[in-house]
Amino acid sequence: MLSTRTTLAQFLIVEARRHENSTGEFNSLILDVALACKTIARQVSYGALAGLHGAVGQTNVQGEQQQKLDVLANDAFLRATEWGGHIAGIVSEELDEPYEIPAAYPKGKYLLLFDPLDGSSNIDVNVSVGSIFSVLRAPSPGVGASYDDFLQPGSQQVAAGYAIYGPTTMLVLTVGRGVHGFTLDQTVGEFFLTHPDLRIPEQTAEFAINHSNRRFWEPAVRRYVDECLEGRQGPRDKDFNMRWIAALVAEAHRILTRGGVFLYPKDSKDPARAGRLRLLYEANPVGFVIEQAGGWASTGRERVLDVQPSEIHQRIAFVFGAREEVERIERYHAEHYDEPEDADLDLPLYASRGLFRASR
Ligand code: MN
Ligand code: MN
Repeated sequence: MLSTRTTLAQFLIVEARRHENSTGEFNSLILDVALACKTIARQVSYGALAGLHGAVGQTNVQGEQQQKLDVLANDAFLRATEWGGHIAGIVSEELDEPYEIPAAYPKGKYLLLFDPLDGSSNIDVNVSVGSIFSVLRAPSPGVGASYDDFLQPGSQQVAAGYAIYGPTTMLVLTVGRGVHGFTLDQTVGEFFLTHPDLRIPEQTAEFAINHSNRRFWEPAVRRYVDECLEGRQGPRDKDFNMRWIAALVAEAHRILTRGGVFLYPKDSKDPARAGRLRLLYEANPVGFVIEQAGGWASTGRERVLDVQPSEIHQRIAFVFGAREEVERIERYHAEHYDEPEDADLDLPLYASRGLFRASR
């Protein structure tokens, strides 16, 4: 196997040879992240055998129930990455404030941001979960990072990716030259390149959205989804399928491997929030991966990677996947659209009215 497959370390070394002044720090950081992911994969796979299921009985800064594995996964990321001297600071979904690298360790030139365990409410039902990470350059290399250092648009990322803990554990990575998937061989504890150059088809007939929020959506989103649901009889002239796993990593991975479009749009459920997903360690890294695979990632109104963050735990509307679909959704947000008066009510009532259909 070693003679025919590329390991993650080999891949990174070959990649580094393209850069003249490569010091190896970046590679070490990615390998440290990969170690954290391998550790988490093992913990996740033991599940109830190790008493790791269930909540710890407290909520995190997001107001979400912390699962035992959220805490363990966060620790795995911190322990694997803080000591190496490659990073100047860390932001984690599970920590209110940026994590200061302990004084005992040297500070490096990168910032690391992560969601240590994405989809953790899926744990108890044994559905795929994952980890998401983003790497930025530290504005002040060699010294501890400040809060504002992390507020960089996603277009500044030097690397991003995720691990998915499913039937197999995979690491999916971009360093700005395409997207590559590695599968963990549990027996040797190594990630091997199995999915080079992942590409997202520009078109699709599969969309993913939490339809129960329909009444809170903006008219542009209702219009898009309604047109999909109308299928062959509607303006799209084709039938669509719908998927919803409710875990960002699993949704992103499905779209990377077989196409589709995902929407967690802005809604009016909680006026204080512009969306559900977190910009710095969910939308930005996934958006970078998706763009590098030929897809598009948007808030519905602008490119996600162009958004200037204002807070480390900021939420954002997030639409990504097949380029043509995301562009259509952006167009619908920009266009004026006279929505039928009762369009936010149940779909069957709305769809049964031929009157409105004729006027579109
Ligand atoms: Mn998450
Ligand atoms: Mn999480």
